[in-house]
Amino acid sequence: MSEQMQPIFILPEGSNRTTGKSAQRNNIMAAKLVAETVRTTLGPKGMDKMLVSSLGEVTITNDGVTILEEMNIEHPAGKMIVEIAKTQEQEVGDGTTTAVVLAGELLKRAEYLLDQNIHPAVLSKGYQMAAEKAQQILKQMAEDVDINNKDMLRKIAMTAMTGKGAEVAKEKLSRIVVDAVLQVADEEGSIDMNNIKVEKQIGESIEDTSLIKGIVLDKERVHKGMPKKLDNPKILLLNVGLEPRETDTEAKIQITQPSQLQSFLDQEQKMLLEIVNKIVKTDANVVFTQKGIDDYVQHLLAKKGIYACRRVKQSDMEKLSKAVNSPILASLDDISFEDLGSAGKVYEQRIGDEDMTYVQDCANPKAVTILVRGGTEHVVDEIKRAVVDALGDVVASLRDKKFVGGAGAPELELARELRSYAESLSGREQLAVISFADSLEIIPKTLVENAGLDPIDILTELKSLHDSGQKWAGVNVFTGKPMNSLEEGVVEPLRIKTQAVKSASEVAVMILRIDDVIASGRTQSPNNSMNNMGGMD
Ligand code: ADP
Ligand code: MG
Repeated sequence: MSEQMQPIFILPEGSNRTTGKSAQRNNIMAAKLVAETVRTTLGPKGMDKMLVSSLGEVTITNDGVTILEEMNIEHPAGKMIVEIAKTQEQEVGDGTTTAVVLAGELLKRAEYLLDQNIHPAVLSKGYQMAAEKAQQILKQMAEDVDINNKDMLRKIAMTAMTGKGAEVAKEKLSRIVVDAVLQVADEEGSIDMNNIKVEKQIGESIEDTSLIKGIVLDKERVHKGMPKKLDNPKILLLNVGLEPRETDTEAKIQITQPSQLQSFLDQEQKMLLEIVNKIVKTDANVVFTQKGIDDYVQHLLAKKGIYACRRVKQSDMEKLSKAVNSPILASLDDISFEDLGSAGKVYEQRIGDEDMTYVQDCANPKAVTILVRGGTEHVVDEIKRAVVDALGDVVASLRDKKFVGGAGAPELELARELRSYAESLSGREQLAVISFADSLEIIPKTLVENAGLDPIDILTELKSLHDSGQKWAGVNVFTGKPMNSLEEGVVEPLRIKTQAVKSASEVAVMILRIDDVIASGRTQSPNNSMNNMGGMD
């Protein structure tokens, strides 16, 4: 810390500055620590983490991004690593642990090169070159898949769920996931994940998870006098309140005699009656509105045998619109027959201690619901996360129409190709590219270690298989022997790998290029100072 001998007054009091090598090492250390934390969860044999929030809520998970978010990491470089996980989650929905572990290893190996007096600028240039080349190699190595290859899509879904709580029911869940995706795909085969609602309900078992060709709303019918179940209903979707006009209540009404009050109320009732008549005239017998429904209107609708829900979330209304194939109307005037949606049935059902509305058996719904079931809150939460991962993987595979084998195979193949690319380079960048290649091997190595096996022999064996042209040779974590990941059905979207390599290398380069950390003094929260991580120079 000799650079800091003289106090400098360019910064306000309480600021904290770390420069040069110590800033760099400090950041690398933090990033490595974060990566190390999630490393044990990677792969089918990975362990889970139990996270306890400040309110004492417990989450048990194997999901990288969930762990990192709940940890509330404060160190700025650590936070950058958390960001990778979030990007990965947004872009693909899976592969968060892979991305973070890779970033940690890239930095760990960089540190070694820094010790050899290789300048960070050279190092980051080499990493960038390797990352670019890696994208090319990955794309060349990938296999094709499309919407007609249901079998492969199911295997992709299953791989995403392997080793999670969902594993026990992965056959069934993967079928549900693929059916859901194919159902909402449009003619061109493009898919909007927003059209798949994943709803959870505690109770029954994981096996009872089901695909509902329609939407499940966490809403009950507004009036107990309404029918509880309707077959082949005609459905009206509204963005209109079925209430006396709001603004009128703002206006002051001068009432001096009881009779005036009565006529005011009569007028209001007349208006509400009119609303109901307009609905009845459309021939609809189910009404969903984003807004409210007046008590009196509820009563009248019930008398007419109409099923109604109020204050339905906008996102749910949009899904409903796609499921029952009808628009959301902003006015009750001029409603035509085409404006009504259809479904096989609409009914209310009590699940656990909640009444839910099912809009089910829609003819060709472009929005569907996966209703996740399981014995406890922790179980349904973790199953939901696994189902969302699997959905993300299937959608990502279809977006690029490309997939790769898993089980560490793509990382090993990538490492091999990058090493031969390095041979074409000269100078110190070559060292950086080799170090990048070595870093990729952390993925198969971790898969083996997490299975409680010794990585040395199997990695050597795998590398020689790759040298002999077996690009999909990966780790069988159950036997500790090599396997052909493709043949074993351990398959993942190409995008998991391209995105993981991209964000891991970007953040590694970014962290390597920092040589000065200036933290402004904070009045509160004293325990987040950079120096807490210090002392490793
Ligand atoms: P991430 O958050 O990165 O998705 P996971 O815990 O889901 O982490 O682990 C993903 C890794 O596990 C991938 O490298 C994948 O290929 C590997 N994997 C999944 N299923 C198997 C399997 N049956 N055998 C070996 N490796 C597997
Ligand atoms: Mg995963």
